[in-house]
Amino acid sequence: MSTIATPTPTETSTGRAWLAADSQVREAAILDALAEADSDALAARIDTLIDRNRVIHEWESINLNPASNVMNPRAEAALGAGLSSRASLGHAGGKYEMGLEAIEEIEVIAADLACRVFGARYAEIRVGSGALANLYAFMATCQPGDSIIVPPASIGGHITHRPGGAAGLYGLDIHECPIDAEHFTVDLDALSELAERIRPKLITIGASLNLMPHPVAEIRAIADRVGADVLFDAAHACGMFAGGMWANPLDEGADLMTMSTYKSLGGPAGGLVLTNRADLAERIDAIAYPGLTANFDAGKTAALAITMLDWLEHGHAYALAMVATASALAGSLADLRLPVHSTVGGYTTSHQLAVDATEWGGGHEAALRLRPANLLACAIGLPGRGDMAGLRVGTPEIVRWGMTVDDMPELAGLIADGLRTDPSPVGLRTSAFRQRFTTLRYIRS
Ligand SMILES: *Cc1c(COP(=O)(O)O)cnc(C)c1O
Repeated sequence: MSTIATPTPTETSTGRAWLAADSQVREAAILDALAEADSDALAARIDTLIDRNRVIHEWESINLNPASNVMNPRAEAALGAGLSSRASLGHAGGKYEMGLEAIEEIEVIAADLACRVFGARYAEIRVGSGALANLYAFMATCQPGDSIIVPPASIGGHITHRPGGAAGLYGLDIHECPIDAEHFTVDLDALSELAERIRPKLITIGASLNLMPHPVAEIRAIADRVGADVLFDAAHACGMFAGGMWANPLDEGADLMTMSTYKSLGGPAGGLVLTNRADLAERIDAIAYPGLTANFDAGKTAALAITMLDWLEHGHAYALAMVATASALAGSLADLRLPVHSTVGGYTTSHQLAVDATEWGGGHEAALRLRPANLLACAIGLPGRGDMAGLRVGTPEIVRWGMTVDDMPELAGLIADGLRTDPSPVGLRTSAFRQRFTTLRYIRS
């Protein structure tokens, strides 16, 4: 028998050699620091980290990442209200387990409210994430080996549509569509030609950065010529549709619309699939159960219902505020001579914008630079510049905390100083500014 030497801290590794070096070092450091901790210490540490997270996000920093948001406290409370651990297989009125009279009513209400907010006939709420919503959509429309056409990363196309994501894992034959950089969307002539050539089963549109509406009706017409379905991925744009700022893709001809529920929707982490087609709704229903979700999170479902009620009451005002502040922030950043990415429609017509971060080494490097300035953002692709060349900025959270267009010059100043000067002193100014905004808007009182 050989004895196993106890590793010294510097030798400690989690054995996950496939991770990037920075991640291996960070994981090892976390585990090393807690190597002697007993269960009580670990439990206390988790409590501390939960509190620390709230301080980071709700006191010290300003979240400029449109993929993240703050929830209505009532919706958040629903996540810890004894619902999430209850198994609930099957449909209301025909549940497999007993005692689900309350949960099945929550489930039906949540789906009905989602239909009302998005003007859809059918809503599937038993979806764990936006990525899974896309997998549901792929499974409902395609068989493994079928061809699909997707938007590339240079216009914010998402990994779930590509080989490394749900589309690739499901075995789809993926073709990226050429882009129309000026309109920050796909090139319709090129799409038409590609579609005629490969005869896809599905054409997807919608991205993680949406500066202008996508031409859904035109994509529908192309899809009709080749017998394809159209999926609109509204993971980010959903707030524009729920708030009536942009034409609803389901009205413009999309067969399916998927989304994340915690980005511009400001709800719980999860996904949503919407359609007006009964045949697709039936397939999605079977994919949800008994297909992929079996039991699902009823707490998240209740939180989604509360979120949808906020949208019905305040959605248009919320979306208007998101768009107005995004435009104002883009203008203020451009006034400070930051390279705000621009389209034929201007900097943005949505709640999102992007700064060309090439001079800071790319979007991720710019985001790392802004972290000590207590400004939270992340990278995004930009046409002709690279898949991580942009710094993406969005206004879903800041307007919920009460920032308005009048606050955007000051915020732009912090972003510019964070990028151009020593970011640490900027962090103190950011926190002082952040702490003026403590009351959530656009939620039901
Ligand atoms: C965020 C995102 C997704 C994935 O959603 P998750 O909820 O993170 O799984 C899918 N599509 C697009 C365009 C996204 O931006």
